[in-house]
Amino acid sequence: MQGSTVLEEKVQEKEVVQDTVWDASSAFVRNPAAQIIHCGDNEVLIKHGSRSRFTKNIKDGGRTRLMGKILRNVYAPTTLEKLREQQVVVDSELEDSLAMIEYLRSQGVLISPDTDPTKAYLDTILGARNDLSTVRIGLVGSGSLGSRIGRQLLDIGAGHLDLLDDRKVYNAAVEKHYFDTRSDVLLKDRSFAECVKEDFGAAGFSERVSVIAGSFDDEDTVRGVFEANDFVICALEAFSSSLLHLVNSVAIDLEKPWISVYIDGSEALVGPICVPGETACYNDFEIQHEATLGSTKDEYLIYKEALSNGHFDATHLALPPYLSIASGLAATGIFRFLTMGSSFLVGRVNRIDFERMSIDYENVLRLPRCPACGPHRPGYRHLFM
Ligand SMILES: [Zn+2]
Repeated sequence: MQGSTVLEEKVQEKEVVQDTVWDASSAFVRNPAAQIIHCGDNEVLIKHGSRSRFTKNIKDGGRTRLMGKILRNVYAPTTLEKLREQQVVVDSELEDSLAMIEYLRSQGVLISPDTDPTKAYLDTILGARNDLSTVRIGLVGSGSLGSRIGRQLLDIGAGHLDLLDDRKVYNAAVEKHYFDTRSDVLLKDRSFAECVKEDFGAAGFSERVSVIAGSFDDEDTVRGVFEANDFVICALEAFSSSLLHLVNSVAIDLEKPWISVYIDGSEALVGPICVPGETACYNDFEIQHEATLGSTKDEYLIYKEALSNGHFDATHLALPPYLSIASGLAATGIFRFLTMGSSFLVGRVNRIDFERMSIDYENVLRLPRCPACGPHRPGYRHLFM
C-alpha cells in the first residue's frame, strides 16, 4: 500500500536522526509537556497529567546525585559545559553527567531547545513514530471547515498543504463569522483556497501551502491532489454523496489513505479514515448509514438526490462552534494516523449531533462484495468476502 510505504520511509529517516551523538556542548532543556517532581537527588517522578499513561519514576541506582543537580538547573536551555562553568557539576563528574543527560533524553525528560513544544508532545507523550513535518496533505474543500482542519495541522507541524476549493466568497460580511481566518482576506468573488492561502501565509506558513487550481468536482483535479500528497482530507460544509464517492474511487484507484469530514444539517460526521486495501471504504459507510435510517429513508433518498443534482440552497448549516469541534476532532484523528500509524478514526465515524448534543462512535464494517473497493481487495480472502 503506497501510503504506508511513504510513512515507513519516514520512520527510517527519523531513526537515523536519533543516532546523532551528543556531547558536552549540546544544548538541552526540560520537556515542556512533562512535570518533574523531585523525590530527592537520586529519584524523580515524571508526570504529564493525573491520569496520563506517560508516568515515569526514574531512580539513579548509582546514587551519584547528578540527576537532581542537573534537573534543578535546566529551567532554561543549557549545556553540560555551562553546568560545569556554573559549578553545578565538577570535572570528575562530567562523564557520568553526560551519560545521565543522554539517559534523560532517551526517556523524554530532556529535549533539544529547538524542538517545537507540539513535537515534544507528539514524540514523548504519544510516542509518535513518524515526523509530521515530512508529510504532504491534500485538502479537498478549503472552506470554513477544511481551513480550520488545515490550520490546526500546520500549527502542529504538518509539512505541506495543497488547497483545492474554487468556491467563491459571495458575502464577506457573513463569511467572516464562519471562517476562522482574518476577515480582510475574505474578498468578494475570491476563491476559498486563495483566501485561506493568504491567511496561512500571514501566519508564517507561506512556504508550506499551495493552491491547486480547479474544481473539486473534477475527477482529474482530485486525482492530481491524491498523486501529489501522502494523505487527503475531504472536508465539506454540506453533505455531497456524489463528491464523496468521487474522492473514494480516486483513493481506491491510487491506493492512498484519506478521510471524509462533513456537515449534514446539525450533524458533523468525522471519519472514517479509509486505507484502501485495509479498511472499509466510503461506499461501505454510506450503505451502512442508509441502512440505519428506518422510516426516514425515503425522505433521505429524495434529499440525497436533490443535493447530487446541485439543488443546494442552504450554505450555512452549522454554527462556527460546531465547525471548531468537528475540525478539532478531525485534526486529532488525522495527526494520530500520520504520526502513530493508527487512529480512533480508522474504519470508524464519530457522529456529533449538535441538535441533541450527542457523540456516537460507529464502526464501519467491510461489506462483502462492495462494488467500490471489492475488486481491489487481495486475491486471498475468505470464501464469503
Ligand atoms: Zn468498499
